Amino acid sequence: MLPAITGLSADALVGWLQSAGQPAFRAQQIFEWVWKKQVRSFDEMANLPKALREQLAQAFRITSLDHSQTQGAADTTRKFLFRLHDGRYVESVLIPANPALYGQASDRLTLCVSSQVGCAYGCKFCASGLAGFTRHLDASEIAGQVLAAEQLSGQRVDSLVFMGMGEPLANLDQLLVAISLITHEQSLHLGARHLTISTSGLVPQIRQLAEHPQQIRLAISLHGATDEVREQIMPINRKWPVAELFAALEYWNARKKQKLTLEYILIEGVNDALEQAEILAKRAQKIQAKVNLIPYNKVDGLSWKRPSDNRCKAFREVLRRSGITANLRLEKGHDIDAACGQLRLKQETHEGIIAAPAKQSS
Ligand code: SF4
Repeated sequence: MLPAITGLSADALVGWLQSAGQPAFRAQQIFEWVWKKQVRSFDEMANLPKALREQLAQAFRITSLDHSQTQGAADTTRKFLFRLHDGRYVESVLIPANPALYGQASDRLTLCVSSQVGCAYGCKFCASGLAGFTRHLDASEIAGQVLAAEQLSGQRVDSLVFMGMGEPLANLDQLLVAISLITHEQSLHLGARHLTISTSGLVPQIRQLAEHPQQIRLAISLHGATDEVREQIMPINRKWPVAELFAALEYWNARKKQKLTLEYILIEGVNDALEQAEILAKRAQKIQAKVNLIPYNKVDGLSWKRPSDNRCKAFREVLRRSGITANLRLEKGHDIDAACGQLRLKQETHEGIIAAPAKQSS
């Protein structure tokens, strides 16, 4: 299988052109055709010599993903299913108005992007954790989701949340190549501050990303303010307990401008005690983080329940009284299983149902 041209950085494309005996300035033209004009074949690259178009077609695929299916919700949230070259599937969700979850403006068109096929981290609320890990996506498959979503919707995507299927920080190398492609001024030119990576709490990678020069935002799937509670929901907490996680977040804070976000799925009788809210408030204060409270969404196969509205509001009020910015999330996309924790691949094939793990909010 040929590599996809959407996985080549500008420098890599220049290198390939030089090895192919072509001038370096063609890289800018090719980048524009691929990312800005979003053509679907090399033949459409009208200002390239025919010989170069043929060389490109012999060396690369133009896309890394084949669109398989779109589901649209009543509120116009759309879920795209993509088939990868090896027959695996991933999903991306286009969300028309993200209610200021990650410090981004609420009128933005946001794409929720997958970073892996499946996930190894097994967070208990997450549909992705149910089927285990299959493989990492490469940079062309990550960045290609954005390109494909723009092509399919006919709209410009304004912001990204890396909280589709997979733990993005477990695939950090390819994620950073994809981000360099997405933010490049000759490609989609998305500002890094409009990109949010959501992690279950991979401490070494948080520290590594803190050194990255771009002002990417970070959100943490916390879901418990103490080890005892968090461990019931997040197996990763046994490896990197709350104290180590927050030490890494303080390290991040010292190097980055944007506020951190703590995601907290409220689960009845598991983590919704007001004592947890008090501890959470102190932790959030220390790192000046805001908190997104997400009433639990039912996932098939899991028995947990969403707390009452009154309990969710009481939890939020404890945070607000401590001066924490706390949002109680109004989910979009319930009717297509694309809300937080519900993103799970279901594709009917001759073999039955493929159910690869999708993710929620790592
Ligand atoms: S929440 Fe993220 S890290 Fe946890 S299982 Fe789901 S995809 Fe993996």
